[in-house]
Amino acid sequence: MAVRRLLPTRGRRLVGPWCFLDHYGPTTIQGRGMGLGAHPHLGLQTVSWLLRGEILHRDSLGSEQIIQPGQLNLMTSGGGIAHSEETPARHGPEVHGVQLWVALPETARHGEPAFEHHGTLPEIGIGPFKATVFLGAFGGVRSGAISHSPILGAEWAALKDGEAEVSLNPAFEHAVVLLEGRAALEGEPLEIGSVYPVPSGRDGFKLRAERGARILLLGGGPFPEPILMWWNFVARTPEEMTVARTAWERGDFPKVAGNLPRVPAPTLDPSSLRLRR
Ligand code: MN
Repeated sequence: MAVRRLLPTRGRRLVGPWCFLDHYGPTTIQGRGMGLGAHPHLGLQTVSWLLRGEILHRDSLGSEQIIQPGQLNLMTSGGGIAHSEETPARHGPEVHGVQLWVALPETARHGEPAFEHHGTLPEIGIGPFKATVFLGAFGGVRSGAISHSPILGAEWAALKDGEAEVSLNPAFEHAVVLLEGRAALEGEPLEIGSVYPVPSGRDGFKLRAERGARILLLGGGPFPEPILMWWNFVARTPEEMTVARTAWERGDFPKVAGNLPRVPAPTLDPSSLRLRR
């Protein structure tokens, strides 16, 4: 499957608390489809968002949830959780979506793990767009999903050709990501596979799109803590990474149901880890 790693990159590590973004597909499902066996997370929230298809999530809390387009799966790792993701037995012909991570601040990163599924999310019409707010608040509507930092996650779907002035919180950093179709930001055409950062201080931009375009808008207050990222973990020190890796390799994390093989941790060289702001 084609996967575009859009965060982190050499040029940009974070957009507010958003620290990871993979955009995958659209891909025609072959055979049994995708299957990512049990793997751990630490210090972050995983955000699953689909444009097409469906994915079955299972985690070590016992959650078992199919997600479909327009819905949100939000898993808060707190101090440790494991999950698996796979194409369910009954599925459509294609899958297309994004997988995002939100870094947890010090106040939340040692907390209890949690999983939420939101089958319906607040939507607002802005010019030719339908905006769905899956994290944080925008335009007077607020997602019911739990967040631990000032944040925005929304998808803009162009229902017809046209443009709109998009208001922004000037205290936030933002980024725009084209997921499908054709769109332009302040008159500049967007390309699929790129992240378009909007620095804090801006209070809006002009977004033009052709019918069918889908655009991700991410934002948040500048994340106040330097973070360490390695494999599926967000932490602060190499020692924390070593402890978490050892716990996973020993089988100390709670189990995930299902038949997929667990994912072994890669080799860790603690001296290679760098704190990032
Ligand atoms: Mn995961």
